[in-house]
Amino acid sequence: MKTLKIAIQKSGRLNEKSVEILKNCGLSFENYKSSLISTVTNFPLEILFLRDDDIPEYVQDGIADLGIVGENVIVETKAEVSYLQKLGFGKCTLKIAVQATSNIQNLEELNGKAIATSYPVILENFLQEKGIKSDVRTISGSVEIGPGLGLSDAIFDIVSTGGTLKSNGLKPFADVMQSEAILIGNKSIADNPEVAELLQRIRSVLSAKS
Ligand code: ATP
Ligand code: ZN
Repeated sequence: MKTLKIAIQKSGRLNEKSVEILKNCGLSFENYKSSLISTVTNFPLEILFLRDDDIPEYVQDGIADLGIVGENVIVETKAEVSYLQKLGFGKCTLKIAVQATSNIQNLEELNGKAIATSYPVILENFLQEKGIKSDVRTISGSVEIGPGLGLSDAIFDIVSTGGTLKSNGLKPFADVMQSEAILIGNKSIADNPEVAELLQRIRSVLSAKS
């Protein structure tokens, strides 16, 4: 029997809940912060601890059979994977925000404007759908400081409480995508009996919670 591999985030917002859901499925494993792989002792499964950005491609390419990652990262990486189960944690909204003093009123006014983001694919998809042509500027982090520095007219980012926006003189303008953690699988593992067993356990953990 082949040992399955599941990729989860090594550290960050999804790590703790990902470990918790696997433990609640009755899986026994050591969760050492320093190791990159952990072997489950009572199920044919290995856990790979990775950066979230790498998880969709690892699953697409079959390096991992399964993965737990935010839907935003799956869409952004354009990975071709199966969506097996929404997991109910890591919920967030990706929004366009503008300066608090801005008089931009509707989406059309974003035409020709510069929007800074770490999620260019999701943003471009949205703009294309709405028929808007903006200048999308990809930066890897701290996009909120862009408008204040005159680097961009607007930003597109994950917004949870809005506190970071406010403290950078920004206000939410348009909601683009809701996201939460999702269990994904390689396209070719659908009929695997161990995957089916694991999925069933995850679903019963989720339904016991709600
Ligand atoms: P890594 O080191 O693994 O690359 P990261 O810094 O890219 O981590 P985190 O900030 O840990 O990522 O966020 C992981 C995921 O958690 C996001 O992609 C998103 O799906 C989800 N998430 C939920 N709420 C938030 C939030 N308020 N801010 C950012 N991400 C959030
Ligand atoms: Zn990341």
